[in-house]
Amino acid sequence: MYVKGVGPARAGQLENKGLRVVEDLLTYAPFRYEDRSNLKTIAQLAPGEMATVMAEVRSTRMVGLKRRDLALFEATFIDGSQGRLVGKWFKGGYLNEILTPGRRVALFGKIEFDSYTGQLSIMHPDYEIMYADDDEDNALHTGRIVPIYEAAGKVTARLFRRIMRNILDSLPAVPDPLPFHLLTKLKLPDQWTSLRALHFPEPDTDLRLLNAARSPAHFRLIFEEFFWLECGLQLKKRNARKANGIAFALNEQVRERIKQMLPFRPTGAQKRVLGEIAADMSAPYPMSRLLQGDVGSGKTLVAAEAAIIAIENGYQVCMVAPTEILATQHHLYLKRLLDPLGYVVAPLTGSMTAREKKKIKEMLAMGLIHVAVGTHALMEEDVDFHKLGLVIIDEQHRFGVMQRLKLMKKGNHPDVLVMTATPIPRTLALTIYGDLDTSVIDELPPGRQPIITRHVKEEALELVWSFVLKEIQAGRQAYVVYPVIEESETAAMKAAQKMHEHLSTIVFPQLKVGLLHGKLPPAEKQDVMDSFKRGETHILVSTTVIEVGVDVPNATVMVIEQAERFGLAQLHQLRGRVGRGGNQSHCVLVTSKLNDIGRERIRTMVDSNDGFHIAEVDLKLRGPGEFFGTKQSGLPELRFGNVIRDQDILEVARNEAIGFIEHPPSEDELKRAIAYIRDNWQRRYGLITVG
Ligand code: ADP
Ligand code: MG
Repeated sequence: MYVKGVGPARAGQLENKGLRVVEDLLTYAPFRYEDRSNLKTIAQLAPGEMATVMAEVRSTRMVGLKRRDLALFEATFIDGSQGRLVGKWFKGGYLNEILTPGRRVALFGKIEFDSYTGQLSIMHPDYEIMYADDDEDNALHTGRIVPIYEAAGKVTARLFRRIMRNILDSLPAVPDPLPFHLLTKLKLPDQWTSLRALHFPEPDTDLRLLNAARSPAHFRLIFEEFFWLECGLQLKKRNARKANGIAFALNEQVRERIKQMLPFRPTGAQKRVLGEIAADMSAPYPMSRLLQGDVGSGKTLVAAEAAIIAIENGYQVCMVAPTEILATQHHLYLKRLLDPLGYVVAPLTGSMTAREKKKIKEMLAMGLIHVAVGTHALMEEDVDFHKLGLVIIDEQHRFGVMQRLKLMKKGNHPDVLVMTATPIPRTLALTIYGDLDTSVIDELPPGRQPIITRHVKEEALELVWSFVLKEIQAGRQAYVVYPVIEESETAAMKAAQKMHEHLSTIVFPQLKVGLLHGKLPPAEKQDVMDSFKRGETHILVSTTVIEVGVDVPNATVMVIEQAERFGLAQLHQLRGRVGRGGNQSHCVLVTSKLNDIGRERIRTMVDSNDGFHIAEVDLKLRGPGEFFGTKQSGLPELRFGNVIRDQDILEVARNEAIGFIEHPPSEDELKRAIAYIRDNWQRRYGLITVG
C-alpha cells in the first residue's frame, strides 16, 4: 500500500486491523462524529455548552490519592484570551507525560463552572495534541464536524484523519458502480461524494444522523453493501435454478406411502411446508430450501415425508446432524417411521467401528440403504452413494457452506433441505441464507401447553427439588442440566458427576437418577438415554449434550443450573426438551450470580416461549458474530452495514436486488453488475459462484 503518511511501521499496525489496501482504509468508517465547529476562545466559553477550545497547557498537578494511577489529574489551560480553563481527568496519572506544560491541545467537551474555585472546568474532555503550528493540519481536527476512528496500534484517530484526507485528495473519480436508475430512484448521493462525506461531513450535516449512521452518505454506503450482497445471493439462486436437478414424480403411490407412514395428522403448518418442499422436489431444478421451525414444531416428520418422495422415485437420502446424539436421535426416529414401510435406514457416525462403517459404506454404494443418517462421517471422501437424491442437513449453522457443497457432490444435483431449530432472525436469514427458499413451521402440534418458566435463586434449590419430586410422584420425569464451560468439558462433566452423586444419594435416594455427559462412550450414552426413554430413570442429570434432539414426551421438568452461563438460544433449546406431551411442563432456571445481560436473558425466557422473539433478543444481546457461536456461520464481512441496526436498509436493498436481477434495465447492465460483484465482493461475502 502506498499512501502518503503511511510508512512500513504504521502499515504493519494498520494491517493488524485488517487494513491492507487503500480501499480498506476508505471503507474504514468513523465509529462516531464530534461537532467541533463550535470553536471558542476561553474568554468566550459559557458553562453548559459543548465546545472546542484550542489552548496551551500552563501547569498540571495531581490531586488526592497517593496512588498515581488513581489520582485526579488537573491541567490548567490558557489561550491568550481572558481566563483559564481547568481540565480534569480521574485516574489521569498517565496524562502527566502527555499533557506537559507548553503543549498545544485541542479540547472538546462540556464546559462547567466550578463554584467552589470560581473557575471554568471541563471534565474528561476529548483531547488531541496539536503538534505543529500547521493551520491546514489543525483545520482537519477542529472547527468542523470531526470523524472519530477506532485507533489501530499507534495510528490514532488524528492520524487516521490525516491519512483519509491524503487518500481522498488523490482519489481519482471512478464511475459509480451502482446502477444509475437506483441513484435517482432512491435519491442516493454518488459513491465519490458519499465516501468524502463519510470521512469529512459537510458543515451543515445533522450530527444525530451521522451518529445514527443515517446521513445520506451512510445510507448510500450501507445500501450499496447490502445491495451487492443480495444481488450475489439472487444470482447464486438463479444459477442453482438453471442446473439440471431431479424432477421427482409425485404420484398416487407416493401419497399413499406418506399416508401410511404418518403416525398422526400433520399440523396445517406441516402440510403447507410439505407442499412447498414437494413443489421444489418435483421441479426440474435442485431444491435449496431452508426449513425453520421452533423446537418441537415437528420438522423431522416433514423431513421423513420428503425422504419418502425421494425413495419412491428410486433415490437415496442422506441426513446429517452436527452431533452423535442428534444423529442417533434422528436415526431412531426415522427408523421407527420408515422401517414399517420396508425402507432401510442406517446410521453412519464417527464412533462406529471401522468394520461397521465399512459395511454401511458398501451398502450405501450398492444402493441397499435408502436413508443414511449420520454426522460428519457422512461427508468423508470415501462415502459414495448409489443414487443420492435428497440431502437433509440439520442445524445448518453448525456446518459451513463448503460442507453443504461436499454433500451435494455425492449426488448429481440432489435436492437440499436445510433444517434449523434455532430460529434465525430475519436479517440474519436474509444475509446468510438469502439464496435459499424458506419454509417456516409456525405452529406447534395440537395439545401442547405452553411451558411455564420460572427463575429461582440458588439458595432456593431445595424448593426446586421438592417440586421435582412431586412431578415424579405424579408419574413424570425430569432433566437437570449443567453448563458446559467452553474451555473445559471435563470440568462440566465433573460438576454433573458431583450433582448426580448428590441427587442420587442425598436428595432422591429412593429414585433412579441417570447421568449423561459428552465423555461417555456412545454405547453407554445410548443405554442411559434408552433407560430414560422407557421411563425407568426418573431424573436425568446431564451436560448440554441433550441440547438438541432428545424426545421424551413424559419428561415435564427441565431444571437448568447456573442458567446465567447459557446463551438464550441454548436455554430455549434446552427448554424445548420438555413440553412434548400433553402434560403441563415446567422449566426452572437456577442462577447464582447475575449481571445485566444475564438478567435480561432470564427475563426474556420467563416472559416468552416464542423462539423467534428469543432469537431477536439474543441477536441484540450478543451481536451477529456471536449469535451462532461458531465461526462457520457464513456471516458475510460487512464494512458499513450492521445486521442489527440496519434491518430497514437491508429490506430495501433486498427488494431492489431482486428487482434488478429479475428485470435488469439492460442485459449489458446486468453483465456489468455480475462482473463487478465477481471482482469486488464474491470472496468477502463467501459467495461461491455468482456467474
Ligand atoms: P423438531 O425437530 O421440530 O424439534 P420433532 O420433529 O422432533 O420437532 O417433533 C417433536 C415432537 O412432536 C415429536 O415427538 C413428534 O413425534 C411430535 N409431532 C410432530 N408432528 C406432530 C403432529 N402433527 N401431531 C402430533 N405430534 C407431532
Ligand atoms: Mg428434531
